[in-house]
Amino acid sequence: MKKPALKALAIVASLWHIAVPAAQTLHLPTPSTSLLQPGGETRFYAPTPGRDWISGTYGCVRSEGHQFHEGIDILRLNTDRRGEPTDLVTAIDKGIVEYVNTVAGRSNYGRYVVLRHHVEGVAVYSLYAHLSSLAEGLRAGSPVAPRQILGVMGRSTNTRTPIDRGRAHLHLEIALKGNEHFDHWFQATYKGSVNEHGNWNGRNLLGIDPTEIFRRQQIDGARFSLLNLIRNQKEMFRVLIPRADFSYASSYRPLMRRNPVAEKEGIVAVELLFNFAGLPFQMIPRARSEIEIGRDYRILSVDEEYARARSCRGLIRQSGGAWQLTRSGRSLLDLITYR
Ligand SMILES: [Zn+2]
Repeated sequence: MKKPALKALAIVASLWHIAVPAAQTLHLPTPSTSLLQPGGETRFYAPTPGRDWISGTYGCVRSEGHQFHEGIDILRLNTDRRGEPTDLVTAIDKGIVEYVNTVAGRSNYGRYVVLRHHVEGVAVYSLYAHLSSLAEGLRAGSPVAPRQILGVMGRSTNTRTPIDRGRAHLHLEIALKGNEHFDHWFQATYKGSVNEHGNWNGRNLLGIDPTEIFRRQQIDGARFSLLNLIRNQKEMFRVLIPRADFSYASSYRPLMRRNPVAEKEGIVAVELLFNFAGLPFQMIPRARSEIEIGRDYRILSVDEEYARARSCRGLIRQSGGAWQLTRSGRSLLDLITYR
């Protein structure tokens, strides 16, 4: 690498609390690779019944765009004589098994596996759902090699409508974790409700678009940085959290921008920058002298056009000219900031 580029990278890195990121390769989790071929989307995604391939992608793609799909559905490539999928499902990167749900009937994910990866100083999670069987010996705490077999693709789920053979798929999520103490938050918030999956309830995983990751990696090659991709999400709205010591802030320090004023005077609040999906992708520490700090969350800004165009997560809404957090928006903030 030439020196000016290195210098530019060093300047960028100095804005953050971390070192210059290193390249890391993430692998597609099934034998299907048509995502990376021009026009290959139709063969790659499993659409919902009666819809086109877009319904198998990530984002506002369900229920006429009104419902959010937190991962991608990768269509089966190979089947046995009965038409059941035989594709092996493999780890996108080296990591540690965080969770294995062996009982299909306990989740709409069916049988699923969650892995933790360390990417450029950040804990990133991958989730593999609807498996028909799980690799032997897979249990929480086991190390996993890149492309290690996790199980066989299937269509296990506990939803009333089954997944039929023709659209058997792997539901893949790549996500950050909302809170280290999700289960405590859940019990405190939904008294009497059952959370069978501890921290590995899907609500605690804040998904990033896997397609964007694999495509960006294909374009950037050795320069690919997942951390930069996360930090450069498109901002939809910004919220001030009137506290500095919450789980997400300490778990995701590499997403915290440097602010010498707050570092010197003391950090008493944190601005969270959200993408359309409700992922806090950057944080800005704030001092008392810099910003008015109340007791409650405060929306600082909204990209209105974008918020109207991509509203499927329903986290904020406009009421009497002002933008407010919806119930689910508030619930997401409660989850992220719960101690
Ligand atoms: Zn899915």
